[in-house]
Amino acid sequence: MITFGPIPSRRLGKSLGINNIPSQKICSYSCVYCQVGITKKYSTTRVSFYKPSVIFDEVKKHLCHIKENDIPDYLTFVSNGEPTLDISIGESIDKLKSIGIPIAVITNASLLSIPEVRDDLNKADWVSVKVDSGNENVWKEINRPHADLNFNEYKNGLRLFAKEFRGKLNTETMLVKGINDHIEQLQETAQLIKEIKPNISYISIPTRPPALKWVNKPNEKSINEAYHIFADNQLNPELILGFEGTNTGFTGNAIEDIINICSVHPIREDTMKELLRKNQADPTILDTLVTNKYIQKVEYKSNIFYIRKFLI
Ligand code: SF4
Repeated sequence: MITFGPIPSRRLGKSLGINNIPSQKICSYSCVYCQVGITKKYSTTRVSFYKPSVIFDEVKKHLCHIKENDIPDYLTFVSNGEPTLDISIGESIDKLKSIGIPIAVITNASLLSIPEVRDDLNKADWVSVKVDSGNENVWKEINRPHADLNFNEYKNGLRLFAKEFRGKLNTETMLVKGINDHIEQLQETAQLIKEIKPNISYISIPTRPPALKWVNKPNEKSINEAYHIFADNQLNPELILGFEGTNTGFTGNAIEDIINICSVHPIREDTMKELLRKNQADPTILDTLVTNKYIQKVEYKSNIFYIRKFLI
């Protein structure tokens, strides 16, 4: 199936998924955490999969069948592998634009050193690029790139695309325990992301069965450190911990507010006190949320923060 959804997404609102890679996963990476399983068909060669007219017709057909209040905010290329391996993705984006819904692409960024790939993605309105590490050895360990890929070319591709792209550019960093979650490694990742100047740098953790069984989520302390290292580098970080809460304002419901905000940003102790006060909430609800493992208390640079506990 080429289209699916719309699915709710904190990053994109309602997103209608487009899978432009047929059946078997084809990717230039074989990330240890990939939820689609191990890459059996590694490739860096761009080829034609579906004709752009087929993708366009499928999207149009799908849109005809959904209710008016489910009209997606984005048409998103999120593929069974790496979407830019589709040599016709630019042409498909061009065609889809006539529908009038913004286009998003979630890419591993490994092919951005190819000018045609950058030209194709330049047609999109929103692009998320994968930046799991700023260190070559860690990049090889976590993303397990195709033998033809080169770390310096990958970094240059990212830099060039960031300079050229006029839409919203975001980064996504998946943290894996013991691989890319140490402070030194997080600093290196932050340095690379800093060059890209993303709109938002998302930090996520594996929440679905990974390709390799040993892959684990980092603990809340490491996630909190990652958040602060990214924030210290002005990367505008947001957390994605498997909870797609959308409401981060003050609703008058303190429990909802705390859980929603903690899913995106750790809350410092003094801010938490203020949040409770604004909501006229009983301060003991905080202990209840910690005891019932909805949130966790962690320390960073002598400050106490509250962060969302992971969903299983
Ligand atoms: S780039 Fe995406 S699809 Fe490819 S292996 Fe990594 S997580 Fe899986």
